[in-house]
Amino acid sequence: MSSPSPRTLLERLGLRPRKSLGQHFLTQPRVAQRLVAALELTPEDVVLEVGPGLGALTRPLAEKAGRLVALELDARLADFLRQEFQASPQVLILCQDVLSCDFPALAREAGRPLKVVGNLPYQITSPLLFKLAREQEALERAVLMMQQEVARRLTAAPGGKDYGILSVLLQYHFALESLFSLGPANFYPPPQVQSTVVRLRPRPFQPAAVDAELLRRLVRLAFAQRRKTLANSLAAGAGELGLSPARVPELLQAAGIEPHRRAETVKVAEFVALANQVAACRKAKGA
Ligand code: SAM
Repeated sequence: MSSPSPRTLLERLGLRPRKSLGQHFLTQPRVAQRLVAALELTPEDVVLEVGPGLGALTRPLAEKAGRLVALELDARLADFLRQEFQASPQVLILCQDVLSCDFPALAREAGRPLKVVGNLPYQITSPLLFKLAREQEALERAVLMMQQEVARRLTAAPGGKDYGILSVLLQYHFALESLFSLGPANFYPPPQVQSTVVRLRPRPFQPAAVDAELLRRLVRLAFAQRRKTLANSLAAGAGELGLSPARVPELLQAAGIEPHRRAETVKVAEFVALANQVAACRKAKGA
């Protein structure tokens, strides 16, 4: 039996989609199946679903996952889903902001890393991606539907305007694959943009950054003023890195980066080399 369309379901529940929560519900069950297939679920897997909405992904996930925790910020939808899944003890619906969820704690409690999935609400895409990068050790993989423009930025190579903080930090923490793209007609209400599904698999980047938080701060600083040279951007914010501005040129040189280059030309491995030079310099200063 096919389930009712999101529009029909919302009408039955007397609800309207909330723009402020990025509510664009999937209308095609086969698209939901493709997203779920990309997770390659086994019965042992513990899945965290971001924003289950009316349950388009939740239903196929519940059939395959060992355990499913779905976080929905809209209390009206969380109530609806609790009723829908009351006979499924492996499914836990929580009315909670995913950005406040402690993924490492959840993974520890589950005894294994999580598989994260979601058709993301647009307004939290970037903060959620940065959170996934910070909490990488809690993840087995993530399969996420996002705006095509953000997917381009994630996977961009150095040298263009799409390459930025998201590209460097997410590529450092994950191997990324753009799986497929979808037009607005696959959602209700239709969004104004194209969407892309991206798969993220955690990877140990080699050589690693000795201090991942320092790498994050360095990359943010480097891109804060994209038009400036790296030497100028870093000198302007050297205090934030615990450095004196005078040390910036020699650290760039030690990392093999010409000081006149702009951040958008610097490869991930070069940022890591520079962060490690900064870390060594701070350590020597503190010693
Ligand atoms: N998964 C459903 C689907 O594919 O049809 C709904 C996707 S809709 C694009 C995004 C969902 O995320 C909405 O149900 C929205 O209420 C929920 N949401 C928005 N912000 C959230 C947040 N910070 N934490 C958890 N859920 C959120």
